[in-house]
Amino acid sequence: MIIVMKPYSEEKQVQDVCNVLKKLSFGVHISEGSEVTIIGAIGNERKLSDVPLELMPGVDKLVPILESYKLASKTFKPEVSVVDVDGVKIGGEQLVIMGGPCAVESRDQILTISETICKSGAQFLRGGAYKPRTSPYSFQGLEEAGLKYMKEAKEQFGLKLITEIISLESIAIADKYVDMFQVGARNMHNFHLLRELGKTNKPVLLKRGLSATIEEWINAAEYIMSEGNYNVVLCERGIRTFETATRNTLDLSSIPVIKSKTHLPVMVDPSHAAGKWEYVLPLSRAAIAAGADGLIIEAHPDPRHALSDGPQSLTPEQFNELCVIIHKLAPIVERTF
Ligand code: PEP
Ligand code: MN
Repeated sequence: MIIVMKPYSEEKQVQDVCNVLKKLSFGVHISEGSEVTIIGAIGNERKLSDVPLELMPGVDKLVPILESYKLASKTFKPEVSVVDVDGVKIGGEQLVIMGGPCAVESRDQILTISETICKSGAQFLRGGAYKPRTSPYSFQGLEEAGLKYMKEAKEQFGLKLITEIISLESIAIADKYVDMFQVGARNMHNFHLLRELGKTNKPVLLKRGLSATIEEWINAAEYIMSEGNYNVVLCERGIRTFETATRNTLDLSSIPVIKSKTHLPVMVDPSHAAGKWEYVLPLSRAAIAAGADGLIIEAHPDPRHALSDGPQSLTPEQFNELCVIIHKLAPIVERTF
């Protein structure tokens, strides 16, 4: 249920409504728009039948939220959300590009690729320190040592950092180094992990599960938000279909669907969708044209010798070319880069 307050209602009126809801054991979430404050009440709605909330001073109307998710829905928050990651805003006018290797392999690798990322105008270094690989015998990541290399690159090149977390222990360690957590496709259904991320206030990039519907994916965001962390950015990375020519099928239709159903920013990972570097640039152009707020791209100084996902990784030159093209495309979709 949401309680829509009248335009410019008083702070005390909002607090009075919140207090009534809290007494009835509702979870209370406030969304302050430029004119109207909306109160989200999560709990047993039958308890509201004896409480005439609509008669309380400052209340305009009560609106049920029909979707299974509440805080992520546009009904709860009609204005788009902009997630601020240490000064870089995702979901605003500026497109955001995150680049870097699938896995952090060495100090040299990270510093080399970070220079490319910085010079091409991208804002984030991505790098996997904890790698949830399909085979337990594949390279599993350098863990904290890898995060230290990323931190050094941040200090040298001024990039923001994002890394995937896979467990409570990795959240605690990565929290000391990175600006944003990444939830991988394989963990989108790990509700315990999502709740723990909700207890931090660090922004989270939530990838779509390999076979998750859009509704399941938004509900995964809701798990994070329900614990109080509203800094969630969704990331389309392709889904499993019958097609084998690409690693996954990039579901670009999810971008307008997400924008119509939620207020959250959405980014696209064309690398894991394509599985081949040749397809990354055309899919990136398509994603930006369809309204994505940014891209996360795998790039490696020497893709042929990469320890993971080499075939889909761009070389420094290709990454730079991609950024030049996004720079030209941005004004056409009324964005900047
Ligand atoms: C990754 O970003 O390296 C990764 C493993 O992605 P996904 O979770 O989308 O497969
Ligand atoms: Mn990868």
